[in-house]
Amino acid sequence: MAIDYVKRAMPKQEPFERVRNFDEVALGYTVELAAEEAARCLACKKPGCVDGCPVGIDIPGFIKCVTDGDFVAGAKKIKETNALPAVCGRVCPQEEQCESRCILGKKGDAVAIGRLERFLADWEAARGPVEPPPLPPANGLRIGVVGSGPAGITVAADLALRGYKVTMFEALHEAGGVLTYGIPEFRLPKAIVRREVEYVKSLGVELRLDFVVGKTRTIDSMLTSFDAVFVAAGAGLPWFLEIPGENLNGVFSANEYLTRCNLMRGFRFPAFDTPLKRSARVAVFGGGNVAMDSARTALRLGADEVHIVYRRSRAELPARAEEAENAEEEGVIFDYLTLPIRLIGDERGWLSGIECRRMELGEPDASGRRRPIEVPGSDFLMEMDASVCAIGNSPNPLIPMSTPGLEVGKRGNIVADEETGCTSRERVWAGGDVVTGAATVISAMGAGRKAARSIHETLTGAG
Ligand code: FAD
Repeated sequence: MAIDYVKRAMPKQEPFERVRNFDEVALGYTVELAAEEAARCLACKKPGCVDGCPVGIDIPGFIKCVTDGDFVAGAKKIKETNALPAVCGRVCPQEEQCESRCILGKKGDAVAIGRLERFLADWEAARGPVEPPPLPPANGLRIGVVGSGPAGITVAADLALRGYKVTMFEALHEAGGVLTYGIPEFRLPKAIVRREVEYVKSLGVELRLDFVVGKTRTIDSMLTSFDAVFVAAGAGLPWFLEIPGENLNGVFSANEYLTRCNLMRGFRFPAFDTPLKRSARVAVFGGGNVAMDSARTALRLGADEVHIVYRRSRAELPARAEEAENAEEEGVIFDYLTLPIRLIGDERGWLSGIECRRMELGEPDASGRRRPIEVPGSDFLMEMDASVCAIGNSPNPLIPMSTPGLEVGKRGNIVADEETGCTSRERVWAGGDVVTGAATVISAMGAGRKAARSIHETLTGAG
């Protein structure tokens, strides 16, 4: 049979339509498209895609289930190793992971593994609540998990499935971490995150919301009632450019901007009483996924003009190609090789303009990307009434500050063993963004999986 090198496109909302709503942009494969895409898989004897997946999903296995039309079995197969398939199918950077190892990618398009994963998860969800697998008898051991993002959810699910009594503590009023407060509805509908959280609860995991570990209760206090604690508190402390004017009204961190919109439902004002002021001209600083999400959110909130202000060029954009393309299609203006140097306010203290400097690219720096260099005498002014800073985040210092003996690194990240998640404190494990700094959903889940194994081995002596 001839090899099919062309990936099936996924239906999407048209750009002119989607910029006016917060509904999901990508609509997912139909049964027919999924079958055609699955049929492209060569079922390699040594599947590179599995090595490329940080949680080692049996990818050829679930793709074969799609080819056979056995979607129940396919969805089950993914769930063996991944508690969040509908999320990962949507937001994982598959092009750098599983799909980058697909043999078809050498001459054409890799198999659309993420789209097939999403298809199975959505197909299963459309059939009603997911049956939890049979649980083993309780082993009498208790685990406290700090944070309910992908790392916390993975540890909680893995340990519940091994008979542990798990309690997950979340500072916010909704579970899900960045999946809930950061990634916008149009990329990851919150109903999907809630469904995945409900699944974890169905495994017997107790969820305590509005509970700030380090304030409400310290890790040391938790260790008196739990056999182990896993810290998965993420990296929620935003960085700023540290230029004049960052205290003006209308100047946001991406974290605040997206939280106001996603978690506090600012886009549904007046149904929710926490509106986000409409801004006519918005500048977003940065070039990653967070910047794309902020820019596309600003458009949907009714801005007339939204700019991505990025100090390098298109080639160095850290965002997923798909997300940058979506932003371009929707009309976001990309100002490359541009550095904001000063924010200017009006007489009432609101942002009115941004002074910028042109950049050019020099030799590659330590990150391997060409270093941006300021061009003397190139300063210019952009009129703006809101800015969103999306240049990165570090972990919040609350937990390290309230936990004596917990070793932290240069950027405030908790130091933990890469293979086990063990920290400098006995019976305390950590993983996800709180250890690595801002990374990806699947790497946080991978860290959760390794820590769950290590916790289990340490507490029970299991090999
Ligand atoms: P988080 O998801 O940050 O969860 C940590 C949780 O801990 C939060 O709910 C927080 O409220 C809670 N917490 C913090 N402190 C405490 C405390 N003291 N007590 C109790 N609870 C606490 N990754 C991708 O793979 N693909 C993408 O497309 C993508 N897009 C992104 C878009 C945005 C806007 C952002 C911000 C990130 C994006 N990421 C993406 C990154 C990804 O979401 C994170 O790497 C991932 O969520 C990290 O998971 P985590 O479990 O370590 O932490």
